[in-house]
Amino acid sequence: MGKRIYNFNAGPAALPLSVLEEIQAELLDFKGSGMSVLEVSHRSKWFDDVINEAVERTERLLGLGDDFHVLFIQGGASLQFCMIPMNLALEGRPVDYINTGTWSTKAIKEAEVQGKDVRVIASSEDKGFSYIPKEFTIDRDASYLHFTSNNTIKGTQWAQFPDAAGIPLVCDMSSDIMSRPFDVAPFGLIYAGAQKNIGPSGSAMVIIRKDMLERTPDNLPAMMKYTTFSGKNSMFNTPACVVIYTINLVLKWLEETIGGLEKMEQINQEKGSILYDFIDQSGFYQGTAVKDSRSLMNLTFRLPNEDLEKKFVAEALEEGFGGLKGHRSVGGCRASIYNATGIDAVKALVGFMSEFERKEG
Ligand SMILES: *Cc1c(COP(=O)(O)O)cnc(C)c1O
Repeated sequence: MGKRIYNFNAGPAALPLSVLEEIQAELLDFKGSGMSVLEVSHRSKWFDDVINEAVERTERLLGLGDDFHVLFIQGGASLQFCMIPMNLALEGRPVDYINTGTWSTKAIKEAEVQGKDVRVIASSEDKGFSYIPKEFTIDRDASYLHFTSNNTIKGTQWAQFPDAAGIPLVCDMSSDIMSRPFDVAPFGLIYAGAQKNIGPSGSAMVIIRKDMLERTPDNLPAMMKYTTFSGKNSMFNTPACVVIYTINLVLKWLEETIGGLEKMEQINQEKGSILYDFIDQSGFYQGTAVKDSRSLMNLTFRLPNEDLEKKFVAEALEEGFGGLKGHRSVGGCRASIYNATGIDAVKALVGFMSEFERKEG
């Protein structure tokens, strides 16, 4: 086997090594089926067990009651930008959004293009999306309030979710789902593209409160309706079988190896402190997000100039640290340290950064 790098990619991103090994071990004969999981029918008992287990693990990890459905829908988080207003906007009532960056902006556009009455009740665009807005007024007549819990590109994260005063919260948790425990009660819908924190690309996880399903209009195409997926255990058509299978293994790792979301949160906080404390004491690296809005998943920073940033990313890769280039829309550097990136990787990165500073600072 070739040498594995420390993977700081933003998405698709690192998976736990033990999960990859488990996939490898059972690749040719999945659960005694005599077939690979890539080959089994989604209508088989083998796959039924996989999807049901993935749903049950999600319910246990997030403490979901009977009032939620866990769905897997292809098309990534981006299709959810479109399905949410299509299904959940109530007649004659606006849809409210908080804009904290690129992904929120895209979600807003998809509601606007459908002619919905979109209100952006708060935005951090005035300061380049470097912070999470704190002051805003919730509209009690809104169909829902949409926000992005972690802003993958700008490196900001909601430390505490907005209080929507009874209006269903709808949240894009693509880049921090399963990174910490939270109270699901105020949420009407939570969604996440799998490829950041829970699996490979090819499916979104959608957690929808059952009463929200009553909003789905009859006159939508089948594949655009949440009710189509909830009525068929996400198997109206062929689902992303291998993605769901991998998600199940990642969730098993979270439950059995890590020990649940409280433990995961502690580990994520420790990783974040190691890296942010290092950046803060350095005069060379500069964090880009406002301190109280910093993300524990995507740590964005700059070096004194762009030439040094290029050199940093290139030398890092040579030393076995991948994915440190910032998103192409903002430049700079970014270390994505999702659940599967261990404390060892973060400590090794700090070692490299410190050495680079000593040489170039
Ligand atoms: C990556 C990302 C998306 C886009 O996900 P796709 O699955 O590629 O559509 C949306 N929102 C957030 C917060 C993301 O990080």
